[in-house]
Amino acid sequence: MIILIFFVGLWYFSLFSQTFFQHRYAAHGAFKMNTFWERFFFLFAYITQGSSYMSPRAYAIMHRMHHAYTDTDKDPHSPSFSSNVFSMMWHTKTIFEGIEKGSIPIEDRFTKNLPE
Ligand SMILES: [Zn+2]
Repeated sequence: MIILIFFVGLWYFSLFSQTFFQHRYAAHGAFKMNTFWERFFFLFAYITQGSSYMSPRAYAIMHRMHHAYTDTDKDPHSPSFSSNVFSMMWHTKTIFEGIEKGSIPIEDRFTKNLPE
């Protein structure tokens, strides 16, 4: 039972950190944090998300692209231009890696006001 509680708790913490840190904070700049709390939630996201951890910077850029190009062929995460969910996720992964490695061009508007 304790193991089940541990994994369910970890799953909820990972959902919280993705929503709070990568999405609302990094991508949307919905609020500000000082350096201490930014580092705290960076580490919190890294620990709670484990192998599904995503760089806040790359996530923010990709998410801003998603909002700017919703359901067009430039949307990095749209089911409208994929034949199934697996090809959509593969496309998303490819774009995400391109952002992380700097191998795809990124418009300046997607990198404005990113957290350090
Ligand atoms: Zn959003």
